[in-house]
Amino acid sequence: GKKVEKDEGANYDIGLQDVGDGTGIVTRFPPEPSGYLHIGHAKAALLNDFFAHEKYKGTLLLRFDDTNPIKEKQEFQDAIVEDLALMGIKADKTSYTSDYFEELYNYCIQIIKEGNAYADDTLQEKMRDERMNGIASERRDSSVEDNLARFEEMKKGTQEGVRWCIRAKMSVDDPNKALRDPVIYRCSPETHHRTGDTWKIYPTYDFCCPIVDAIEGVTHALRTTEYNDRDAQYQWFLKALKLRHVYNWGFARLNFVKTLLSKRKLTRIVDTGFVDGWDDPRMPTVRGVRRRGATIPALREFILKQGPSKNIVNLDWYSFWATNKKHIDPIAARYTAIADNAKVPVTVVGAREGVQTEEKDKHAKYTNLGKKKVVFSSSIILEQADAASFAQDEEITLMNWGNAIVRKISHSINPLSSPSGLKTVTSLELELHLQGDVKKTSKKVTWLSTDQELIPVELVEFDYLITKDKLEPEDKLEEFLNPDTKTVTKAVADCNVAGLGMDEIIQFDRKGYFRIDRAFKHGEAVVAFNIPTGKSK
Ligand code: ATP
Ligand code: MG
Ligand code: MG
Repeated sequence: GKKVEKDEGANYDIGLQDVGDGTGIVTRFPPEPSGYLHIGHAKAALLNDFFAHEKYKGTLLLRFDDTNPIKEKQEFQDAIVEDLALMGIKADKTSYTSDYFEELYNYCIQIIKEGNAYADDTLQEKMRDERMNGIASERRDSSVEDNLARFEEMKKGTQEGVRWCIRAKMSVDDPNKALRDPVIYRCSPETHHRTGDTWKIYPTYDFCCPIVDAIEGVTHALRTTEYNDRDAQYQWFLKALKLRHVYNWGFARLNFVKTLLSKRKLTRIVDTGFVDGWDDPRMPTVRGVRRRGATIPALREFILKQGPSKNIVNLDWYSFWATNKKHIDPIAARYTAIADNAKVPVTVVGAREGVQTEEKDKHAKYTNLGKKKVVFSSSIILEQADAASFAQDEEITLMNWGNAIVRKISHSINPLSSPSGLKTVTSLELELHLQGDVKKTSKKVTWLSTDQELIPVELVEFDYLITKDKLEPEDKLEEFLNPDTKTVTKAVADCNVAGLGMDEIIQFDRKGYFRIDRAFKHGEAVVAFNIPTGKSK
């Protein structure tokens, strides 16, 4: 992982509590390997990395929070490792919550023995009601012996065992409901992707998190602000188990309009085949936004710009793509593409005999991007919309060539393609007027000589997967899926496009920025994904 240089506009004023000289700071990123990283996870990972490695010279831990065997898979774990590397994040140590199952089990025994936890078999719904209404469970005052015996039964995964869970004895009716005897252990007979069938009991996140943080020497546990209410129970566990102190530090969850940032829902979208996979350019995953054309430095800058804000806002994608545009503009070489079904053949009078080629800058301003070949001849094509806008004897500019005067316009009136009666241009004759001033024309059009290998390209545009700005928990996902999110326009491009590699970010003049998703192969079109720029169309 190479370090990305300092990000312009990122907020560097944020700090953690009580940092000393900074070298003792230990943060951790704790993903659950139950899906690919989305950009919300990227925020958490980048902030932890920022504090551990940039702001302070401390330590970053990566900990797979793998306590729920039903949802977790090796595939997801591998993808998380790759995506972190992609973001330039390198953890100093990697661990697994499941490495601590034995310790966690012992801490559970300890907390039961000290009278601070009990076994409960209250049915789920009743437990919820009791918790809501501040009513004590009937099992709350069971003896330590009974509690230990039931925990053993759970450990064996017997029919009796699966009926029980262990709850911390914090409070029955504290105004902070997170303190109302949270569940700390459950019985689950599933096979775990790392520990196999060794364990039939699994600790909850609430129990693991403070214990493993303390054991691993985490000094600052960064969590999204929805966890604020649970900070008190986190601190309760540290105290009850006489563990070392850890600070909690809250940051705002990242949310975007018309976007799901929940692995559970994203899994559903992938599993139902609504998108092509976790790296589909419409997915808000790290892979998805990259494939759409976001760069990692842009992602880092955007996220660190959100900084310490604790306000949870529904961000729009425009500001994200506007940040990205700043990063891609200086690296995007410029080429020409003309829509296939809108090509107008043009004869250029006054062009030099035969076929000429010239080397031109790939970008007039960023000449470091190198040169491309521009082919000139008397036979070119233009785009219909441009051709249809020309008036007889109008002076226009052919980009990268010079001025020309419109000498002849041939029309056909096609009532089907233009119901308004607008004429379709079937061919044009232009007379070069190279001494004309390109600054004085109002129309600067793209064109392609047909005396070169024109490269077939599919220009692909994407739309939001979701039709509602903010999905509410009661909304049915399927009712808000946008059925029409991909538009493909076939086009032809200049011969240089044959040499573009996968992942290259370019600009097609007057069409926008694109990322090459499939490079050219004879017989197969280049696939280019349109990269949003932050402007709404
Ligand atoms: P999801 O609901 O997508 O599964 P999660 O919180 O359950 O999210 P984890 O793998 O447990 O997923 O998350 C790893 C880290 O990423 C946690 O520290 C979590 O707080 C953080 N995180 C998850 N979603 C967001 C988000 N939208 N914005 C900021 N941080 C997030
Ligand atoms: Mg989680
Ligand atoms: Mg979740």
